[in-house]
Amino acid sequence: MRKKVWMEWPLPPALISRLSALAEVVTDGDLDKLPGSDVISGIGRYYDGQLMDRVGPNLKQIAKPGIGLDNIDLDAASARGILVCNTPDAPSESTAEHAVALLMAVAKRVMVGDTQIRGGEGIERSDLQGTELLGRSLGIVGYGRIGRRVAEICAQGIRMNVMVYDPILPEDFVMPKGVARADDPDTIFSQNRFVTLHTPLLPSTRHLANERRLRLMRPGSYLINASRGGVVDEAALIKVLREGHLAGAGLDVFDPEPPLADNPLLKMRNVVLTPHIASNTDAGIDLMQSGTAENIERVLLGERPTWIANPEVWPGRMAQAGG
Ligand code: NAD
Repeated sequence: MRKKVWMEWPLPPALISRLSALAEVVTDGDLDKLPGSDVISGIGRYYDGQLMDRVGPNLKQIAKPGIGLDNIDLDAASARGILVCNTPDAPSESTAEHAVALLMAVAKRVMVGDTQIRGGEGIERSDLQGTELLGRSLGIVGYGRIGRRVAEICAQGIRMNVMVYDPILPEDFVMPKGVARADDPDTIFSQNRFVTLHTPLLPSTRHLANERRLRLMRPGSYLINASRGGVVDEAALIKVLREGHLAGAGLDVFDPEPPLADNPLLKMRNVVLTPHIASNTDAGIDLMQSGTAENIERVLLGERPTWIANPEVWPGRMAQAGG
């Protein structure tokens, strides 16, 4: 029987036709067409066990573009022998650059200046005074793909003093020039004028930037978040920004997403907001699309995909199904 791929995000025609040589490819995201699929692929929806069961016993792979797996119930997939594949390297550069763009934008008052020059009222010259970054301190929580690139740009390019915390950093890891390590997240928050978050959203990182830690930051500090909205306690962030304890924030991600219309962050001039677009660049999208197509293609051919988030299920159902 011809295999079936169900998708709810766009792939360019060339990639669709490559996959169509191996399977029927449903690209309209119509949930009624889920049953019987061998592979499903998407971004926004939460993929839980119920949805997997709705697809049925043919389902061998959930192919996620990008790195974040917080919208997939990994345990439910593993229990059913379903491979979960992502493209972890694809969004790294774009997201790191975006975090630095947010940092620059808040430090240089870019959005307030833009609003003022377009005739925005009530903005004084003093409101437009920025912060020079050379020699200033930047704390990074999460020193993985994105955190490392942010550290490199900021330490080597801008010559900021960078400090990082990551619980899996080996004791003997040789830190690059200009980058120091911290033994705990509290040190990052208390010692750095700028803090940027680059962890996955896990039970252990939910509200990692909570009120206590935000208050550890020195008055006049800035928070940057291009990881996941839930890593920050948004209510606490709003509180410390309103009090003037933090000078500003740069946020690409929210909790919930998109932010509700009455979210006070939308009205704050010292906050720069972008709608979860950090990886949404020409190169970032290209890499996510080609990587996802390759992950799907390999499963359709019965080959092991490069990136498997739950490798314990390989070959499992693939072997039973004969690829
Ligand atoms: P990665 O897996 O390469 O690195 C994440 C690092 O966080 C790991 O080294 C891990 O050890 C560390 N970590 C885990 N728990 C921690 C904790 N409690 N404290 C400190 N560090 C901890 O992932 P990455 O490619 O660097 O991406 C990081 C996250 O960024 C992703 O999981 C995703 O949620 C988010 N992201 C967002 C966008 C966007 O468009 N805004 C794009 C890509 C990724």
